[in-house]
Amino acid sequence: MAAISMRNIVKRYGDGYQAVDNVSLDIADGEFVILVGPSGCGKSTLLRMIVGLEDITSGDMMIGDVRVNQKAPRDRNLAMVFQNYALYPHLTVFENIAFPMRLKNTPDSEVRERVQKAADLLQLGEHLDRKPANLSGGQRQRVAMGRAIVRDADAFLFDEPLSNLDAKLRGQMRTEIARMQKRLGTTTVYVTHDQTEAMTLGDRIAVLRRGVLQQVGTARQLYEEP
Ligand code: ADP
Ligand code: ADP
Repeated sequence: MAAISMRNIVKRYGDGYQAVDNVSLDIADGEFVILVGPSGCGKSTLLRMIVGLEDITSGDMMIGDVRVNQKAPRDRNLAMVFQNYALYPHLTVFENIAFPMRLKNTPDSEVRERVQKAADLLQLGEHLDRKPANLSGGQRQRVAMGRAIVRDADAFLFDEPLSNLDAKLRGQMRTEIARMQKRLGTTTVYVTHDQTEAMTLGDRIAVLRRGVLQQVGTARQLYEEP
């Protein structure tokens, strides 16, 4: 059974614009899939439909064996990492990472343990008492990833997480995301318009153009000469 299964997914916005056109894609448990394509091709729209932040016009969205079309984001158990990090400025790094667990009234001892584990994985251990304003872009992105990790979600969804970082840091974070995903083995969908990220990060690449899924395959299958 696929971890995430999309069947004939269509998105038509209120103004009639069809942003996603009959997309079908199965993502296996533990797989890392890159969704790549030029700006405006519908990547974010598709990702937002997976997480439930955008209504699906038609088609079936399955998470495991559950059809989630009508389910609110909170009932899907997915963790999304946004491009702008979406951190709480008044909270420390610790509390930013802990936030999803605070919402669920997780016991303090468990919160501490899970934040510490995420912080170790992301090299944030020294910075737990700081506020987001006092962090570098890369550190902020790590905090956002930490918050995703502690949710114990069925999948991670990344929306261009590195596009606000400079080239050097992007390279470094690319390596870290790949390492984190391998270590945790969590199913991941990662949206980018960056070819390097597409070719180096995922198990498979799905190429979207004008809302249509054009190709799906490994970097080798897609980018190397036959
Ligand atoms: P990408 O993430 O690939 O850049 P998006 O999914 O953000 O693309 O957008 C796909 C298309 O849908 C674009 O043409 C965009 O202008 C359009 N679009 C996005 N959001 C809306 C909206 N709320 N209403 C109407 N059109 C939208
Ligand atoms: P509400 O105020 O109705 O709870 P929110 O936008 O705060 O609306 O979030 C609703 C639910 O969506 C949350 O309980 C959470 O489970 C889920 N959610 C919010 N942000 C994310 C995210 N980045 N990734 C996954 N799920 C999210």
